[in-house]
Amino acid sequence: MKKKFKAESKKLLDMMINSIYTNKDIFLRELISNASDAMDKLYYKSLTDKKINVSRNELSIRIDVDKEKKEISITDNGCGMDNEELENNLGTIAQSGSLSFKQENSEQTDVNIIGQFGVGFYSAFMVSDKVEVLSKPYNSKQAYLWTSTGEDGYTIEPADKETYGTKITLTLKEDTEDYKYSEYLEEYKIRSIIKKYSDYITYPIIMKVNNRVLKEGSDSEYVDTVEDETLNSQVPLWNKNKKDITEEEYNNFYIDKFYDYEKPLKVIHTSVEGQCSYKSILFIPSHAPYDFYTKEYEKGLQLYTNGVLIMEKCGDLLPDYFSFIRGIVDTEDLSLNISREMLQHDKNIKLIAKSIENKIKNELTNMLNNNRDEYKKFFKIFGMQIKFGVYNNYGMDKDKLKDLILLYSANKKDYITLKEYIENMKDDQNNIYYASGETIEKIDKLPQVEQVKQKEYDIFYLTDYVDEFVIQTLMEYENKKFMNVSSNDLNLETKEEKEQTEKKNTEYKDIFNLMKEALDGVEEIKFTNRLKNHPVCLTTEGDISIEMEKVINAMPTNEKIKAKLILEINENHEIAQKIKRLYDQDKEELKKYTKILYSQARLIEGLPIDNPTEISNLICEIISK
Ligand code: ADP
Repeated sequence: MKKKFKAESKKLLDMMINSIYTNKDIFLRELISNASDAMDKLYYKSLTDKKINVSRNELSIRIDVDKEKKEISITDNGCGMDNEELENNLGTIAQSGSLSFKQENSEQTDVNIIGQFGVGFYSAFMVSDKVEVLSKPYNSKQAYLWTSTGEDGYTIEPADKETYGTKITLTLKEDTEDYKYSEYLEEYKIRSIIKKYSDYITYPIIMKVNNRVLKEGSDSEYVDTVEDETLNSQVPLWNKNKKDITEEEYNNFYIDKFYDYEKPLKVIHTSVEGQCSYKSILFIPSHAPYDFYTKEYEKGLQLYTNGVLIMEKCGDLLPDYFSFIRGIVDTEDLSLNISREMLQHDKNIKLIAKSIENKIKNELTNMLNNNRDEYKKFFKIFGMQIKFGVYNNYGMDKDKLKDLILLYSANKKDYITLKEYIENMKDDQNNIYYASGETIEKIDKLPQVEQVKQKEYDIFYLTDYVDEFVIQTLMEYENKKFMNVSSNDLNLETKEEKEQTEKKNTEYKDIFNLMKEALDGVEEIKFTNRLKNHPVCLTTEGDISIEMEKVINAMPTNEKIKAKLILEINENHEIAQKIKRLYDQDKEELKKYTKILYSQARLIEGLPIDNPTEISNLICEIISK
């Protein structure tokens, strides 16, 4: 009976049949990679399951071609699939969130989406009209044959197969003017694809090849022979000498292994001998994986021992703040069937993790110092993770990470490090100033920024919601305290200026008390000389800044908090006189003005106004006079 593909699978299939993916060669890489995975699985099982008796050197992949039938087949003796698995694994895209993701982001190109998840088994349909999968699990008596000619569905029926494992046979499409599918039957083509994409596969990939050799006993007569040849070197890339590996090889390895469609931003290839010994190739991706900021994302490195994969994602090898790193680690001396729990307590793994962390940090520091543009690109993508690392766990790791942070400098109009800020501080400057807001442009227009700028002190403009948490965790850098420009105690005035403001505040004491009656939630109203042109601003007293209030209150679960707000009025602005006049003439009118002034200050800060209708009516009333 013919069965239909599940809807999502059919879409992917359509894309494959219509071949939106331009590099068709990769179908072979995908099928070989599946074969290799299947043998990994079987071998891994055999380590703990006495009923499975396979040794590693029995495992291999065969490629066969039949030029007449236009068939190419890939055979493995891996775990195989039973009836149900054929149905589940090939009839649907089982674990693939890929298509629902695609639907939500339909403006993205299909190529990218598919690449992001690995094109997988379905890529066979890029080059073939018919795909047959003959498979038999280890220790099973019955084999099954899965057949599909594409869009119209597939069939599964009992079949005969002598040995366990899987044989996938593709009937290639007819050659067209644009594409010569029959090339995949040629030895040189298969050879070159395998060399390019699958050389490091740890099992031999064997093909019958034609050789012309001298006839025995003759020095001029040749005979044609057919011999098995292993096409891949099987040397894992990480065991090769760094200088013998091309950038393209690293990139292909990365793209193939980690299902990315873009080459990595950076490769870190290391070989460590000593307290702990391991080889590793680590990659900094050039973009965040689609699920990076979801809880589904699982950090970790592939763990091998002596070239044999023993864990797909070993989380213990990476600290959370470097969770974006992808890569592999190969170390000797690990038991093949070590459990996750045992790994966690393995001293060697701890040492390796420490060493890897240092390598990553050194590489980032290096990039920061020697290739700022690249680092800025990195930081744009993964900086959030580093910042998170600073304040996570009560700042336990802050000292390791603080020099990797970039923040926007108002003076430099660019992202700089904390160290660079300190180096450029003015002689009379005691604090590191920062201002928070939604965008750099908005912060730059904040009234509170003016006074600090006039002193020519640099200001960090913080636009990420985590930034203030980072600052609060660090508290200081090289003995310089962080100071919010909106903080109530900036202390930038001279003694005379201060006295002058005090005097005016005393003079206006009753006026401000009356004004306060008109407002809800304001601690204090007072004069300031921090404002040069602006009439009013809001500042805060204590640890909670206005930005923090916004961020924390936007979180669904937390209790709501309130910053202690102070309404500061520019003592040199003409509004000061107006207030006084109103106090003498019409106290009710003064209350209305106060509400408007306060709303203005809130608006500037990007805070909501509690009663916009009232304020709007008040403004209208005043301007109609
Ligand atoms: P992926 O390999 O990314 O999981 P594929 O579409 O390539 O997706 O394959 C789907 C599933 O089919 C695999 O996860 C695996 O369980 C199964 N599979 C594919 N090829 C083989 C094979 N040669 N031997 C055993 N199982 C296989």
